[in-house]
Amino acid sequence: MKKYAVFGNPIEHSMSPLIHAYFAENLGIKLTYDAILGTVGKFELEAKNFLKMGGKGFNVTLPFKQEAYNLAETKSEIAEITGSVNTISLKDGLIHGDNTDGSGFIKDIKNNIGFDIENKKILLLGAGGAAMGILPNILYERPLELKIYNRTREKAEKLCNKFLDIGKLDYVEISDLEKYKFDIIINSTSAGISNEDFYLPKKFFNNDSICYDLSYGAASNSFRSWAKQNKLIFYDGIGMLLEQAADSFLYLGVKKTINN
Ligand code: NDP
Repeated sequence: MKKYAVFGNPIEHSMSPLIHAYFAENLGIKLTYDAILGTVGKFELEAKNFLKMGGKGFNVTLPFKQEAYNLAETKSEIAEITGSVNTISLKDGLIHGDNTDGSGFIKDIKNNIGFDIENKKILLLGAGGAAMGILPNILYERPLELKIYNRTREKAEKLCNKFLDIGKLDYVEISDLEKYKFDIIINSTSAGISNEDFYLPKKFFNNDSICYDLSYGAASNSFRSWAKQNKLIFYDGIGMLLEQAADSFLYLGVKKTINN
């Protein structure tokens, strides 16, 4: 039976084993898909061991996406651009890296929610790995305005500089937020994991603006409450999680097992 897995730390919260098992069952594919607690500082060794022991590919979650990028011998264009990898497969005997976070986010927001980013004013909260993974895809959709606010300003500035060649994006100070009316507020922070409240000013959105949280489950409660207090429509990151997993299922090469 072909062997797949997801590496992360922590990993017990990961829904990837459940989702990939569901996809496989529905396609009549037999596979194993485990959740592996990676050791910080030993990811490369453990990942290579998994492949050596017959693993056909694996997904990568926090905090190993950049190390997975370094591990990959060849990379997809979007993995190169984002500098982060969430899917490792074997291609022609080489370790290949892909990133499906951005495509998963866009598919959820466009196809499932029906929100078109083109010509819209976007505020992205957070400048971590998830922000890095989705920013190029947001820019490809040609928003009218894209601002990033992050607690640590330098990290947001770094991201703005990184993607300047793709499209226009700027850092915004929290004190300047009220100068804008954003159509969508995207939360890519992990503040909700510790159930911290959102302290944001008012009046930087319209009545019909929407809130999208990359987090899901209990981690989305803080931003959900903020959206509710401000009477804004709220979506959590479950749709993105499923869409990125579906793309990843293809890139892992699992489907090839139908013919093998
Ligand atoms: P990172 O650790 O890379 O980044 C965390 C970000 O959150 C940083 O910008 C950090 O700011 C900010 N932050 C953390 N705590 C607070 C706080 N108390 N107040 C304000 N800002 C805070 O995490 P990721 O980017 O990888 O993940 C972020 C979230 O996105 C997670 O909840 C994750 O589960 C979710 N996610 C969902 C996916 C999906 O498919 N739905 C896919 C990928 C991620 P600073 O720079 O100042 O530290």
